[in-house]
Amino acid sequence: MDKVCAIFGGSRGIGRAVAQLLALKGYRLAIVARNLDVAQAATSDLGGDHLAFSCDVAKEHDVQNTFEEIQKHLGQINFLVNAAVINRNSLLVRTKTEDMISQLHTNLLGSMLTCRAAMRTMIQQQGGSIVNIGSIIGLKGNFGQSVYSASKGGIVGFSRSLAKEVARKKIRVNVVAPGFIRTDMTKDLKEEHLKKNIPLGRFGEATEVAHAVVFLLESPYITGHVLVVDGGLQLTM
Ligand code: NAP
Repeated sequence: MDKVCAIFGGSRGIGRAVAQLLALKGYRLAIVARNLDVAQAATSDLGGDHLAFSCDVAKEHDVQNTFEEIQKHLGQINFLVNAAVINRNSLLVRTKTEDMISQLHTNLLGSMLTCRAAMRTMIQQQGGSIVNIGSIIGLKGNFGQSVYSASKGGIVGFSRSLAKEVARKKIRVNVVAPGFIRTDMTKDLKEEHLKKNIPLGRFGEATEVAHAVVFLLESPYITGHVLVVDGGLQLTM
């Protein structure tokens, strides 16, 4: 059977690093993001017959149509990675309702929609593997990140529950929870200051998270697991 993986948020950062590893391992990839030009550029860098798709994970119709398009062009999806994110740091009292909604919709609802869409074919095939990207902030909380933290904590509860629902169909659902990783999302953070709290003394690289994602995607006897990849940050939080 072909290994077909859809990577939502695969055009940049951690999702893109996952795509690079999976391409080397012979997967056929759907690289999904809102900005099609960036997704296409990331896809052509991979070589091979991978495809880029434009989709807003927060929109049910978009997700549904994208799954149909992916299956039409690449075949049945048996692997799924959810790495799409938006992050708006602010104290709760200063956070606008629309910013709460957009973060929850992209970071949490989006993963629910893609997982539900994937379930249909994975149940039919009696197998599949999903990795949702959470965050150490979803486990430990952080100043100025209550909404982002809620969306990421939600990913853990959602993924563990779904893992229980679909294990008998041989579908696995796991979470990778990164600490501070060098991507566009963290480009405005002050690494010099923050790295003092990280036992390994630096931010992580997207590839270092990608290895954990690929490990969970391909581990036949692991489901409902949360794998923290944070340079030891959680030891200090
Ligand atoms: P990133 O570099 O900012 O990339 C985000 C990706 O998500 C892009 O491909 C972006 O493409 C896509 N995206 C954003 N909104 C979308 C939407 N509504 N629909 C579809 N795609 C959307 O982020 P990252 O740092 O790699 O983060 C990846 C995952 O790791 C996220 O779940 C994040 O919470 C988690 N994480 C990251 C860190 C870190 O330090 N970087 C730490 C902990 C957890 P478009 O903008 O074109 O849509």
